[in-house]
Amino acid sequence: MHTETKCILGGYNPNNGEPRQLPITQSTTFRYESSVEMGKLFDLEAPGYFYTRLQNPTNDATAAKIAALEGGVAAILTSSGQAASFYSVFNIAAAGDHVVSSAAIYGGTFNLFNVTMRKLGIDFTFVSPQATAEELAAAFRPNTKAVFAETLSNPSLDVLDIEEFAKAAHAHGVPLIVDNTFPTPINCRPFEFGADIVTHSTTKYMDGHATSVGGVIVDSGNFDWTQNDKFPGLTTPDDSYHGITYTERFGKLAYITKATAQLMRDLGSIPSPFNAFLLNLGLETLHLRVERHCQNALRVAEYLRDSGCTEEVTYPGMPGSRGYDLAQKYMPNGTSGVISFRIKGGREAATKFMDALKVAEIATHVADARTCCLHPASTTHRQLTAQELIDCGISENLIRFSVGIEHIDDLLADVQQALEASQK
Ligand SMILES: *Cc1c(COP(=O)(O)O)cnc(C)c1O
Repeated sequence: MHTETKCILGGYNPNNGEPRQLPITQSTTFRYESSVEMGKLFDLEAPGYFYTRLQNPTNDATAAKIAALEGGVAAILTSSGQAASFYSVFNIAAAGDHVVSSAAIYGGTFNLFNVTMRKLGIDFTFVSPQATAEELAAAFRPNTKAVFAETLSNPSLDVLDIEEFAKAAHAHGVPLIVDNTFPTPINCRPFEFGADIVTHSTTKYMDGHATSVGGVIVDSGNFDWTQNDKFPGLTTPDDSYHGITYTERFGKLAYITKATAQLMRDLGSIPSPFNAFLLNLGLETLHLRVERHCQNALRVAEYLRDSGCTEEVTYPGMPGSRGYDLAQKYMPNGTSGVISFRIKGGREAATKFMDALKVAEIATHVADARTCCLHPASTTHRQLTAQELIDCGISENLIRFSVGIEHIDDLLADVQQALEASQK
């Protein structure tokens, strides 16, 4: 099946006479005839549902659709993108371990790694997404358990050299985990380039309509956890599950099974079945929406570039933009709807531009159907001084513009009048 067909048909397969649309199984529990049967479920000896914190049919069908879209063997939904990032690493790293991460990652993920997970005793080394092979190799330690990066970073729009990062990870016997939120599997399928685990904030394009916060982790099934002794949580008996060894019992499903049976059981960041239903509905049109987001964004980026009102426009889908060459390799059909640009006239012009917008909305959100716009220097990074802004690569005149799927003429007219207002 092609990706477009998987968006429609993947995951849920109704039998004769069953509902055509994925039913919302809004039930915490499941009934059984005997306690012996239920006991087998608890011991992971038989497949089946018993409590929604571990598994639920609506959540599982939606996860299976995303696994199919990414070309993976299994997936697990989480209640947010943050939970997906946390679980993806915590599933294979514990106190005393170390992770190499790209520095060009979502601010919330950076905080999770740099502050909260350090408190759990897991150390991180941050590297540039443009790091050379030597620089990457130098970041590894004997206790390194994973490499983490974003395929197209939020908000800096760096395109990851997935093959280079995968090569470095594999040379050190660890998996490459990538957050593929911005390109989505419509534009980039990281497993085809050697990534081992993919995460998403489904809150963005996958949901697409700004209704549900959510996340997902997908396993390619390609990483051999038994090649070294780095992953005892997967390759030695789990005392909290009657001595099951995940790799022996579940083979290619070991990583996702452990995340479900151990992390979800103990930490419980599940989405509600209703949110999984909304996510599945969003996925049905993902291919159409992403294509239009990219068409519109390219037109807006070109318009901004040619307007004479900008100092730099970053849109890796546009020839001449930073990141274009790598994007041609890893996401040749398009990158995402997100553009960043530096407007002429500094902070004052940026503010005037934002305030003049009529179609585009000012919102702390990216990557959904509505065009929205953010001025990092006066919102998300407002507490920083002018010098601190420069240090973290956010100039006072930087605007992040997330292009939606409205008619392009309305968007261009809005950008035109806002640019004019900004230069007065
Ligand atoms: C938004 C986002 C996250 C966090 O996701 P939530 O669903 O908001 O928890 C993680 N990674 C990227 C790239 C994001 O854009």
